[in-house]
Amino acid sequence: MRAMNPDAHGPDAAPTFGPQARRHTRPVDIGGVTVGGGAPVVVQSMTNTDTADIDGTVKQVAQLWRAGSELVRLTVNTAEAAAAVPRIRDKLAMMNAPVPLIGDFHYNGHQLLAGEPACAEALAKYRINPGNVGFGKKRDSQFATLIEFAIKYGKPVRIGANWGSLDQALATRLMDENHERAVPWEAGRVLREALIRSALDSAGRAVELGLPPERIVLSAKVSGVQELIAVYRELARRGDHALHLGLTEAGIGSKGIVASSAALAVLMQEGIGDTIRISLTPEPGQSRTNEVVVAQELLQTMGLRAFTPMVTACPGCGRTTSTFFQELAQKVQEHVRARMPEWKVTHPGAENLTLAVMGCVVNGPGESRHANIGISLPGTGEAPSAPVFEDGEKTVTLRGERIADEFVGLIDSYVERHYGGPRPD
Ligand code: SF4
Repeated sequence: MRAMNPDAHGPDAAPTFGPQARRHTRPVDIGGVTVGGGAPVVVQSMTNTDTADIDGTVKQVAQLWRAGSELVRLTVNTAEAAAAVPRIRDKLAMMNAPVPLIGDFHYNGHQLLAGEPACAEALAKYRINPGNVGFGKKRDSQFATLIEFAIKYGKPVRIGANWGSLDQALATRLMDENHERAVPWEAGRVLREALIRSALDSAGRAVELGLPPERIVLSAKVSGVQELIAVYRELARRGDHALHLGLTEAGIGSKGIVASSAALAVLMQEGIGDTIRISLTPEPGQSRTNEVVVAQELLQTMGLRAFTPMVTACPGCGRTTSTFFQELAQKVQEHVRARMPEWKVTHPGAENLTLAVMGCVVNGPGESRHANIGISLPGTGEAPSAPVFEDGEKTVTLRGERIADEFVGLIDSYVERHYGGPRPD
């Protein structure tokens, strides 16, 4: 018998810190982007344009890609949409935005791929919803046709089950089986099991048809946080397919952001998840790219990836009635986000920079010292001066009307000095 380590669980045991090791999954190559197999968690998004509108779709895909979406999915629902896909891919390539495109198919995917081989070739992955492939006897044959196209064109697929389009025949069968149990499960558990089985059984069927497991990503999306966590824990436990995480129909505004972050953070902390999409409903007039920013910020604040310098800012309180620090925090965040595409090429590593903008002397100098570069603004009644700290040392004190511009200049100068400068041609 193994001896117990007296310290392992005692008061001196080291507290756990950080996410658990990533769960082992098979790596899937999606147009040159690896999902799973220990690769960094990939950010993806989806357009909301009519795919047949080539120019509108190209514009939005390019925006999503420039915002940081490493894969972009688009609806392929009609012959016109399928015909548009290769032209969209070509136009994006000409714009130097070569993002892998994923086709989202429901009901008629088998016909669209058969009718438009150029679409089948242009897409980097096919998303197949096992609950929406077809009905009755046609379901199996239409699913098989989609898998055969993936085999023929050498493409991976995502088998994406969804709570809102659950395979009803499977759900009914599991409900019937449940009645036979000595202690029947509660209905919610049976439905979660149906969703999990829909994804896993479909993946098994795809493998039987000849699609290698290294070309299959799985998802099983629901709209409730606790349900999503339960479903993905089971999916992770029962197989080694790469997993696409997302809370479906997350909602609008802060609710969608909070619900998605709550669910995905728990799973990623447990090492579950190889690619994420944040399914936000855009607020009227809001850019579609917001979902990409949220996905990046979720990964970065969890310490899983770095995309752009992060600004720590205090919430403000009665010690500073000025809105100046709020405006400065916003200006700094917008500035570094705008510069990052260029820095990514010319100053790699700048995405790890940490910044602090603080409202008064209470926590200002302390928090600023923890950042690479931080500023502590004067609170109400404090002397009108703003000390700046670089890597823990006070370097300069800013005063007067141009504090914001001067601080932004100091950030640029810090990046210039610490992240190498432009690469030689
Ligand atoms: S740093 Fe100062 S202004 Fe900001 S929250 Fe703390 S006490 Fe309030």
